[in-house]
Amino acid sequence: MPTPADPFAPVGESCHRDGQPCGYKPATAPDACGKPATWHVMWDPGTCDNSLTCDEHMALIQSRWVYVDRHPVGPDCTMPGALWEYSNRWCVIPDDEPALAVARALNGDR
Ligand SMILES: [Zn+2]
Ligand SMILES: [Zn+2]
Repeated sequence: MPTPADPFAPVGESCHRDGQPCGYKPATAPDACGKPATWHVMWDPGTCDNSLTCDEHMALIQSRWVYVDRHPVGPDCTMPGALWEYSNRWCVIPDDEPALAVARALNGDR
């Protein structure tokens, strides 16, 4: 229920809330699909090229293209700093401590 003095009125586009839209844009359509996305698709881990898509376009993607990985859209998908976890099949925002430990391990720092 909206309140008259809601300080959090939507200001333009936000990708950090539930109901993130499908980003699929048919070549023949002027705009992206815009339905609530249900799948998060990783196209190229090297460039971190990923997209959100609805059930309908997930089916289309599966029939036409090859993607690297996918998982159902979760609360952390597309959040700044979220990492794609292939093993768990979701996106997570890493805690600072484990991330630092990983960074140290990768750098050979003890
Ligand atoms: Zn769609
Ligand atoms: Zn995700």
